[in-house]
Amino acid sequence: ALQVRALNKSFGTFKVLTDIDLSVDQSEMVFVLGPSGSGKSTMLRCCNRLEEPDSGEILVGGAPLTGSGVNLNAMRQRIGMVFQSFNLYPHLTALGNVTLALRRVQKLPRETAEAAAREALDRVGLADRAGHHPAQLSGGQQQRVAIARALALRPEVMLFDEPTSALDPELVGDVLAVMRDVKAQGMTMLVVSHEMKFARDAADRVIFMDGGRIVEQGTPEQVFGAPREARTRAFLGRLH
Ligand code: ATP
Ligand code: MG
Repeated sequence: ALQVRALNKSFGTFKVLTDIDLSVDQSEMVFVLGPSGSGKSTMLRCCNRLEEPDSGEILVGGAPLTGSGVNLNAMRQRIGMVFQSFNLYPHLTALGNVTLALRRVQKLPRETAEAAAREALDRVGLADRAGHHPAQLSGGQQQRVAIARALALRPEVMLFDEPTSALDPELVGDVLAVMRDVKAQGMTMLVVSHEMKFARDAADRVIFMDGGRIVEQGTPEQVFGAPREARTRAFLGRLH
């Protein structure tokens, strides 16, 4: 459902991404791991062209996101993104945050947008918090609102950039549980995260990046249990 082919990206003279090839199949959850600065966020941001690739192709559902003549707004609606910082509007309620995205992006009338927003909040277990403002919600609840906002737009693919790393440890589990549900409902997901236990349990595939390249990929059993590359072993060793 998501394909990245021969992606290259530099910032000035600094090569951040070199020849990235990856695909995430329909309903697959693929995890990306790697040291700080290895290019994980830049890679995700290239997948919806928040960062402009220097070369390479990105395809969503077989349709190109790169190249001339692409309707970027239409294509971006097919890709949901969840960030480490939840990026909610503080002056709007949970319902208001999700509704606004639907009204802005999909131009839905208020009532239709609100109904879809309530449904999305229900999917992340926050139906009873619809009227709360972000400051009245825990970090985990705020992140679930952000996930609801992305889900409400009915994307084909969702990108997650360290969705739990800003959360207190006791709040991480709720967000991971929501991600597990979203996957169970068939979403295609590309996730940057260092939640190893979750990756082991729930990921279909794990990719290890270092220095802007994909060094190794495989099933969680393979990459965690028997990493082939010395750099992967060194990285995983540091996490314990
Ligand atoms: P982390 O685990 O710390 O989030 P990351 O793997 O997500 O790291 P990126 O944020 O993709 O890494 O950054 C990769 C490299 O590109 C880093 O060296 C970073 O300093 C550099 N970089 C990122 N964005 C820019 C930018 N806009 N301009 C210049 N350099 C950048
Ligand atoms: Mg990052």
